[in-house]
Amino acid sequence: MFKHIGYKIILVFGSVLIVVMLILGFFFTVHQERSILAQNKRNMAKLTQSVAEGLQTIMIAGYADVAETFADRLHNVPDVIGFDILRTNGLEAFKDNITIDDVNRRIGSEEFLPRDEVSELRLLDEHDPNLMRALETGEMVSFYREVTPGVRNLSFIAPIMLSEQCYSCHGRSQPVKGILLLVTSLAQAEEDISSTRKQATQIAILSLIVIVLVTGAVIRRSVSRPIKSLTEAMEEVADGKMNRQVEIPSRDELGRMAGSFNMMSGRLADSYEGLISEQDKLTTIIQSTNEGIVVTDRSDKIVLINAAAEALLGKEAEQIRKDGFAMLFDDPGIIESHLQNMDNDTEGSALVHYQNRIFSLSASRILSKDGTLIGSAALIRDVTEETRLTNELLLLSTTDGLTGLYNRRYLNESLGKELGRARRYTLDFSIIMFDVDHFKKFNDVYGHETGDRVLKMLGNVMIKTFRDIDICCRYGGEEFLIILPSTNLENAKISAERLRVAVETTSIDDLSVTISIGIASYPETDTRSIDEFIKKADLALYKAKEGGRNRVCT
Ligand code: GH3
Ligand code: MG
Ligand code: MG
Repeated sequence: MFKHIGYKIILVFGSVLIVVMLILGFFFTVHQERSILAQNKRNMAKLTQSVAEGLQTIMIAGYADVAETFADRLHNVPDVIGFDILRTNGLEAFKDNITIDDVNRRIGSEEFLPRDEVSELRLLDEHDPNLMRALETGEMVSFYREVTPGVRNLSFIAPIMLSEQCYSCHGRSQPVKGILLLVTSLAQAEEDISSTRKQATQIAILSLIVIVLVTGAVIRRSVSRPIKSLTEAMEEVADGKMNRQVEIPSRDELGRMAGSFNMMSGRLADSYEGLISEQDKLTTIIQSTNEGIVVTDRSDKIVLINAAAEALLGKEAEQIRKDGFAMLFDDPGIIESHLQNMDNDTEGSALVHYQNRIFSLSASRILSKDGTLIGSAALIRDVTEETRLTNELLLLSTTDGLTGLYNRRYLNESLGKELGRARRYTLDFSIIMFDVDHFKKFNDVYGHETGDRVLKMLGNVMIKTFRDIDICCRYGGEEFLIILPSTNLENAKISAERLRVAVETTSIDDLSVTISIGIASYPETDTRSIDEFIKKADLALYKAKEGGRNRVCT
């Protein structure tokens, strides 16, 4: 029941209303009670007063003997339960002959006949405080008295004052001759009070019910129902029904809330649709790309494998998922070390040899804005053909087509490096440069093609003669150059001589050539310029030509 806001409001409102009504009811009934009692008291006081006056008139008229009957008759007045005429000492009057004797004596005749039977009846204590007060003040005194539990009487003590006309019979010795004791029942007043209470309670309950019902209906109409429909709509949105709209119930805050909700869900629907279409696009791109894509969530569980990944890795998605992210290439070290390198920012992508193919792998951890890991992704590309072409291109760009030796560009690059290295670490190194003797003539006699074959043969001889670390280059035409790292002039001479002999003794179709060789060495030649260094070798070569060819010069 307390799941509904309307009931809560009614409960709180009802409780407050009950408390307010109880307080109001209490004050209302207390006020009503007081005014009923006051009204009753006023009425009874008037009655007492008029009885006292009536009695005085009877007495003055000389009909003192009917006063007793008058008093008895008063018992018939509604609500009067006691009416007595008392002496000032609290004893009932008209029960003895004291006054009769006194009056007869005073007027000097036997006008009033004495009673045959006398008695003494005390109606008030002589020292009753109310009696004393009435006698002292000469004013009427009233007081409430509880007769039995819950039943109260209202009594009046009215002093009977002696006036000028009374002195002839009663003398002047006392100002108060007697007192009237009138006891009235409060039954009627109490009944009025209780009926007032009852009516007030009934009205309060009725009003409470009406107010609660009306308030409940208003709350239901303008609060509960709109909130309920808004809540249901929100739940539907949470369930994925983004474009849910609600009726705008009013122009108050709830109405504005509903309006804002409609706007929000509208925008949400638009954004969601946009997201879905972007997702579709992305999915299409991911699925149609030739690049293999594998993505995991934060717990390293694979959540996406595209068709290319399956094809490249040669495994079904099911199998890839089962093996896990680290085992994409069947070797957990590959992915792990690559991820570490990526973390250290040392590598963009890595080449992985897998199943006789070469793959470019780019694996990375995906981090959220605050740096927490939300997954990993691997991009896999088959670069077998690309690598082959690149290598081929590299070979083409650095080698000579005819001899297969390194070309001049590569020579310049390598020589620059070697020169720098030798100077930095004070290492020996040498270059050997040679030129075919009278090759022009050779071409003229045997043809250019044969000349080419001789050049090829020279390449082979060089490869055979020199070490792997030596760099054999075609410098241009029929001139060649060999870089010999960590080789001093002496050793370079020996190698050059060995080459010279090897060329001289190698023939094609019984034809052979000779070469003239020049050598330059570091530190004998100390220069930063490779051109100058080559120039030195070239000068030595020129010297060899000059010296008669087929020889080595430094
Ligand atoms: P020398 O060096 O002994 O002074 O005389 P030479 O005739 O060899 O003179 P030079 O070194 O100037 O000769 C260059 C000749 O080399 C010219 C050309 O016919 C030949 N030559 C240059 N490049 C090639 C080539 O790629 N193939 C062939 N077959 N011959 C070439
Ligand atoms: Mg030449
Ligand atoms: Mg030559």
